[in-house]
Amino acid sequence: MVDFIGTRRVQELVRDLGPAPFIAGLAREIEADYRRWSEFEKSPRHATHSPLGVIELMPACDGRQYAFKYVNGHPKNTAKGLLTVMAFGMLADVDTGYPLALAEMTLNTALRTAATSIVAARALARPDSRVMALIGNGSQSEFQAIAFHDQLGVRELRLYDVDPHATDKLLANLGGLALAGLRVVRCRSAAEACAGADIITTITADKRNAIILTPEMILPGMHLNAVGGDCPGKTELHPDILRRPDARVVVEFEAQSRIEGEIQQMPADFPVSELSQVLTGAAAGRSGERDVTIFDSVGFALEDFSALRYVYRLHRERRGTRASIDLIPDLEDPKDLYGLIATPRVVRERVAELAEA
Ligand code: NAD
Repeated sequence: MVDFIGTRRVQELVRDLGPAPFIAGLAREIEADYRRWSEFEKSPRHATHSPLGVIELMPACDGRQYAFKYVNGHPKNTAKGLLTVMAFGMLADVDTGYPLALAEMTLNTALRTAATSIVAARALARPDSRVMALIGNGSQSEFQAIAFHDQLGVRELRLYDVDPHATDKLLANLGGLALAGLRVVRCRSAAEACAGADIITTITADKRNAIILTPEMILPGMHLNAVGGDCPGKTELHPDILRRPDARVVVEFEAQSRIEGEIQQMPADFPVSELSQVLTGAAAGRSGERDVTIFDSVGFALEDFSALRYVYRLHRERRGTRASIDLIPDLEDPKDLYGLIATPRVVRERVAELAEA
């Protein structure tokens, strides 16, 4: 039997720990895995594009465990009452190839994306950052807000979305959380949201080269957490922002980000550093107060590997709903797979025949 960690179980685990501690723990896990980057077998994700979206497979393996995630990205889905991003994934044991768990990864993707943003922002943003613009107030936005409040000490959030209902929903959810000392300001434009911000998170969904941020919105010292552009032909930043002489661009996995990130707009030799290099000191992140640091996030399979292992461990350790599924045949004789479908009568008759012969 394979452990099944469904949506209800992940809800239970997150509520049990609390969203902020859950994300904090996951950020520790992701950072630890990025620090042992060379142990992972890595590849850009396999993406199948269609006019309305993309379906992606994301594998990662550290030689002991293997994980993959199936995830979509369909910005027009919300008009049909469906999520833009939903996912599920599997964690497996390398020595046997057997799955350990099949898990929901929709909530877990939002949690791990926020956790990864935190890992990058801790390394790149000015330590005195207190004000964050949050542009795009859809499914991912609360997770980013909670994480930056808890882990980075953000005390003012400046919200903007082209859809006012998305901002209403975010305001209502943040109000329900009553996060200590957090001031939330609703803005009428992306430019208004960015005014006075130390950090700008863009997490919009639109399958085109959107220009959410223009060069004049960016001031020296800012950190950009650019999360929404994650597909060929789907970006959020004006390319002149990337070209700024004071810009330091950090990506997750260069080979994948050249295809999917904001840097798809740049020549192939455009200089970037990988997050693992910044975390281990192999590459410089921010070199001074006035640098503009840009985390060009697309989401990398290692983060899902970390998230699957994290949730699997919590699932095993903590009380609550347990479920498993009979995904893999359980055989008395591992060479008798056919025995699973042979009808007992047929088998009995054949055995009798053989005995008589
Ligand atoms: P969502 O559809 O729930 O929310 C997106 C929001 O963006 C919507 O409310 C929409 O109105 C708003 N928006 C669209 N265009 C805008 C604009 N020009 N200005 C302001 N707001 C605008 O989607 P989601 O699940 O929150 O995901 C957001 C984005 O993040 C998607 O593009 C998704 O692919 C991406 N994503 C990236 C990662 C990563 O690891 N980098 C992980 C998860 C999701």
